[in-house]
Amino acid sequence: TRTILEVDRLALVYTGRGRDVNAIQDASLLVKEGEAIGVAGESGSGKSTLARAVMGLLPPTTSRIVGGRIVVEGVDATGFGPSDWQSLRGSSVAMVFQDPLSFLNPVVRVGRQIAEGIALQDPHADRKARTRELLELVKLRPSVIDAYPHELSGGMRQRVMLAIALGCRPRLLVADEPTTALDVTTQGEILALLDELRRTLGMALVLISHDLGVLRRLCDRIYVMYAGHTIETGRTAQVLGAPAHPYTRGLIAASRLTRGPDGRFSTIGGDVPSLQQRITACPFQPRCGSAMPVCAEMPPFLDTAEPDHLGRCWLLTPEPGGAPALPPDTR
Ligand code: ATP
Ligand code: MG
Repeated sequence: TRTILEVDRLALVYTGRGRDVNAIQDASLLVKEGEAIGVAGESGSGKSTLARAVMGLLPPTTSRIVGGRIVVEGVDATGFGPSDWQSLRGSSVAMVFQDPLSFLNPVVRVGRQIAEGIALQDPHADRKARTRELLELVKLRPSVIDAYPHELSGGMRQRVMLAIALGCRPRLLVADEPTTALDVTTQGEILALLDELRRTLGMALVLISHDLGVLRRLCDRIYVMYAGHTIETGRTAQVLGAPAHPYTRGLIAASRLTRGPDGRFSTIGGDVPSLQQRITACPFQPRCGSAMPVCAEMPPFLDTAEPDHLGRCWLLTPEPGGAPALPPDTR
């Protein structure tokens, strides 16, 4: 199958607020046609930054890519300027965000906002017919055309945002915490809709969520991020069922997928490292219960845990010229 998006060892810095933030330090992502990919990780791990990077939506004056590549449908977009990205967003990739109200224009009726998106992609399209078609796709009544965003519920607004995103017939939809602001019932409806749209339209989906249950439900493969690093990736069942990285194990233990023997959720102790400098060892080492001396000295690389399952951990990698990796049962 065709590769839609490839992020290869991306590193980027925010330079805006007086001091640098190394928000992405070594992140990789591979998305093939029609695939559902999940991105997990704690707050501040760089999920939204990665999403904005692959959509060309980073602040141009206060962010800088300092390493790696972003390749969209075979085209190296790493050095793209705003207008190059705009045409890519009009054809290959589209995005929905957590908060539709910050994206929708409050004084423009919904129908017109959807139609504007259609016109961007195809100036000759029958906008009325296509708008109705898009509303039907996201399961909204045609009368929504005349509504203003504030007249709609949170779930309906998220559907409107989806309709706008689908207006350019994207081959990849990036959804950044699309249901976090919604109540549980509405959340389930929007997730089911995303899943259905991906299947019927054959588009790929990158779903960003700190909710592992959500990712487990929808995604074929998962990437786990920590302090700007991809620290584990594999098929969803592998990553969540037999995690290779101590951080992923902690994340699963702290999620609502499992409770401890005392019936309580566990947490991962310690603090996330500062992103003001590039991290030159294992980013998780200060918090890791399995840390060895090498973990504080050398950065581990993404290594094979099982076929199609990678982890960035010295437990998986024999130290160069040093001790062999631990046997699997002690991981
Ligand atoms: P959350 O789960 O809270 O949405 P996230 O994984 O999406 O977190 P990001 O929003 O990508 O994390 O942030 C990564 C790091 O970059 C954080 O330290 C954040 O404070 C910083 N950051 C994000 N946006 C900017 C910006 N525009 N300027 C400077 N720093 C930023
Ligand atoms: Mg975010």
